[in-house]
Amino acid sequence: MQNIQMVDLKTQYARIQEEVDAAVLEVIRSGAFINGPAVKGFQAGLEQYLGSATSVIPCANGTDALQIALMALGLKPGDEVILPAFTYVATAEVIALLGLKPVMVDVDPHTFNVTPAIVEAAITPQTRAIVPVNLFGQSCDLEPIMELASRHGIWVVEDNAQAIGADYTFADGHTQKTGTIGHIGCTSFYPSKNLGAFGDAGALYTSDPTLAERIRVIANHGQQKTYYHDFVGVNSRLDSIQAAILGIKLRHLDAYAEARQTAAAAYDAGLMEVPGLVLPARQHNSTHVFHQYTLRVRNGQRDALQVFLREKGIPSMIYYPVPLYKQEAYSGFAAPGFELPVTEQLCREVISLPMHTELSREMLDTIVATVKSFFA
Ligand SMILES: *Cc1c(COP(=O)(O)O)cnc(C)c1O
Repeated sequence: MQNIQMVDLKTQYARIQEEVDAAVLEVIRSGAFINGPAVKGFQAGLEQYLGSATSVIPCANGTDALQIALMALGLKPGDEVILPAFTYVATAEVIALLGLKPVMVDVDPHTFNVTPAIVEAAITPQTRAIVPVNLFGQSCDLEPIMELASRHGIWVVEDNAQAIGADYTFADGHTQKTGTIGHIGCTSFYPSKNLGAFGDAGALYTSDPTLAERIRVIANHGQQKTYYHDFVGVNSRLDSIQAAILGIKLRHLDAYAEARQTAAAAYDAGLMEVPGLVLPARQHNSTHVFHQYTLRVRNGQRDALQVFLREKGIPSMIYYPVPLYKQEAYSGFAAPGFELPVTEQLCREVISLPMHTELSREMLDTIVATVKSFFA
């Protein structure tokens, strides 16, 4: 058995090497490095994959996507933006960078996501936007969140960096891909994400043609016509070589999700009866594409479990060890002593096991047996 890795991009590449190498060489030989056919091709492919009249605007990375989304909404300094305190820093960073006020809220202890009730309780007359994060690979309960946003006249920007490909089911039974439900969806193609480039890349989605146009303009220096600048924009482009690679990998995205779901099912079956562990819950109206498989370890044993696994050669990660409001850079956005109970608990209890598309049965059995032996 090969060494167990947290993420194995090399083996994944080896299985599609011929296709990827040919696509990359084609870009190099064509000389169409900026906004060439590879970018247009990937954009069209992703639009088709996402369905529901969604426009895709590619950009340089997921953090840029979030920043451009908030810029496109025309928010003003001091406007409040609601986001979970239990997320990757990028979500808060762009809010702070634009002079907006991050309002950090708690999450559900089972799904790790914000709930409609939590979001609603944080709405004030200054609230202009909500950024629900579809954490670890499943959707927030977005239909009621969209309803309350519409009642209050608030924008919803989905941070879908971790959940590309997941399906959300509405009350009437129809399904939609995560990221296409909010007014704007943002995603990242960071190499270890479910659809990963071989470098940085990202995209925004929207089904609102006015927003789509504004996003396109902002991502391109605020220019509609070359050398005429109507807005202060940014330079955020998807690299053509990355687009060529993503175009190939998009064809495998559903198979990649299945491989992750198979690994998650093996973890579930193997760890179900271990007292002291809480398995990741599934949002009842979302599929789960398992960007991460994240357990909660009770009784203060999380750190000891991680050390034990490391000694046995099994990597694991803590996503996330510190709530946003306790980060040096963001503590100023919360009142002194501000704490959210579930976020605090999760930062103490969570551990993510190896999760990628190349986990063999033997590897999964080894990981399960090792985790169990810690508790035996
Ligand atoms: C990865 C990630 C981002 C940022 O994406 P980059 O492409 O690394 O800029 C934003 N939000 C969440 C939740 C992420 O996981």
